[in-house]
Amino acid sequence: MANYEEIFKKVVSHCKEYGFIFQSSEIYDGLAAAYDYGPNGVELKNNIKDYWWKSMVNMNENIVGLDSAIFMHPKTWKASGHIDAFNDPLIDNKDSKKRYRADVLIEDYISKIEAKIEKDCVKAAKRFGDEFNKNEFTSTNGRVLERKKQINSINEILITSLSSGDLERVKSLIEELDIKCPISGTNNWTDVRQFNLMFKTQVGATAEGATDLYLRPETAQGIFVNFLNVQKTSRMKLPFGIAQVGKAFRNEIVARQFIFRMREFEQMEMQFFVRPGEEIKWYNYWRKSRINWHKSLGIAEEKYRFHDHENLAHYANAATDIEFRFPFGFKELEGIHSRTDFDLKAHQEYSGKKIKYFDPEINDSYVPYVVETSLGLDRMFLTILADSFKEEILDSGDTRIFLKIPHILAPIKVAILPLTKKDGMPEKARKIMQSLQLKFNCQYEEKDSIGKRYRRHDAIGTPFCITIDHVTLEDNTVTLRNRDTMIQERVSLNKMEEIISENLNISKYLQIKA
Ligand code: ATP
Repeated sequence: MANYEEIFKKVVSHCKEYGFIFQSSEIYDGLAAAYDYGPNGVELKNNIKDYWWKSMVNMNENIVGLDSAIFMHPKTWKASGHIDAFNDPLIDNKDSKKRYRADVLIEDYISKIEAKIEKDCVKAAKRFGDEFNKNEFTSTNGRVLERKKQINSINEILITSLSSGDLERVKSLIEELDIKCPISGTNNWTDVRQFNLMFKTQVGATAEGATDLYLRPETAQGIFVNFLNVQKTSRMKLPFGIAQVGKAFRNEIVARQFIFRMREFEQMEMQFFVRPGEEIKWYNYWRKSRINWHKSLGIAEEKYRFHDHENLAHYANAATDIEFRFPFGFKELEGIHSRTDFDLKAHQEYSGKKIKYFDPEINDSYVPYVVETSLGLDRMFLTILADSFKEEILDSGDTRIFLKIPHILAPIKVAILPLTKKDGMPEKARKIMQSLQLKFNCQYEEKDSIGKRYRRHDAIGTPFCITIDHVTLEDNTVTLRNRDTMIQERVSLNKMEEIISENLNISKYLQIKA
């Protein structure tokens, strides 16, 4: 783990050094859990959004987009259950005065037991060599079974006490497990309390006339309240989906781990409306489709796993998380939820307006069921950065740091580098730049040695560098350098453009594996 922590620290400082992410309001010593995306960060973020949007909206005839307001009528949140039930259980350590999410303290305890099981496996694998069968070992070894039993029993108590709102039991579980505060090292805990995660604000100039508003904690409700508007104006027939990318706000109790848990973040959500009774079929469809989307970016498959929920949210009848192995362990990246007709029915009730769909195939009207896919844009950003950060020792003994970002997502696609600042090379390079810059995001650079410029572009993940030299002036060929292999090849300008276009061809990426 120490190694992962070290890599994570390097990724965080790399993000700042190379203009990906800055702490918000840094000159005032920063604001916790808020971040700004710098020049390279905003490009990467936009590329992720674009990749998601194209695969979701452009590739599916029955999915359309929406951009709803962050402010919504306050009744929205009563109907959605967020005012009454969007709570996290918090607990304070009386000695360190640090605040924690009680459920996360217990989940971290479980992760430690899981890590012990992993260690048992590593040891056994060494002992048994080629004979080792992990599945068999974890289902028969006495010590592993004992650990699994302990995990199950803790999980069961946690789930039942949280769903019944029995916060005393959550606290006594923390005490029974003798969980200590990592800062003070003591188990001197306060009682567990519920804490609502929505940010409240006011609209209106005078205190008397003011109305309480909330900053939306999810983009989904903007989709639900617009169901009829969108369905009618786009003449959609069920099943169909509405997709939206936008900011969401949560007053997270503990906001740590960089952009993994922020108080202001972005979501890429799609709500898919289906006929009642067909939701589980569609839930399975989207479960598969979404993992394939992640795989299409070429990140190692073993870094993803599903975590099916046992403790279902008040609105769901099936739910899973796609988890990614971040440097701090497997954590939720995307949620896929079968939300039943909970939201539309609730809005129907609170607004007094009918929200029904007339289904011509069965000649009947009903409130549609919904399957949601909800991906955190910032978590996706962290996934890409954490996965792509590479340190490589070269034959020369030097260390090369490069970001192996999937080409299609790279902030800059092509660096255009005249070998020297004279002999007409900059002029030629500028011409090449002009011919490419509307097709790919290019950057022109003539300062420093060519080696240094290559390194700078490695560090921000630029997949291609083009060098313009004396020969270019004679025969229109350039040196094309590949970020990952560092191979340089001499190619004509036409060929260069062909190679780059082919590499950035989105349809190549989205040929989703079955
Ligand atoms: P967690 O259990 O980590 O708090 P959640 O289950 O509350 O997440 P959802 O309500 O399912 O999250 O939100 C959908 C997605 O939005 C998550 O999968 C995640 O990628 C993203 N997300 C949620 N909360 C945050 C946050 N505080 N900062 C960044 N991204 C977030």
